[in-house]
Amino acid sequence: MTTMTDEAVPTVTDPVCGMWLDPARAVTSEQHDGDTYYFCSSDCRDLFVAEPQRYIGTI
Ligand SMILES: [Zn+2]
Repeated sequence: MTTMTDEAVPTVTDPVCGMWLDPARAVTSEQHDGDTYYFCSSDCRDLFVAEPQRYIGTI
């Protein structure tokens, strides 16, 4: 069963793998072009940093 978040917790998407994250629990984050992106792991962050436009542009 898929349960939507019914709490007032802001959620963000890891742009690399698409995982939903609670920003407060994200492993790491990265500033890019004035926005903050959150990642489930440093591996995802490294992929994003290498080619940010690849992940931002597909959304
Ligand atoms: Zn990820």
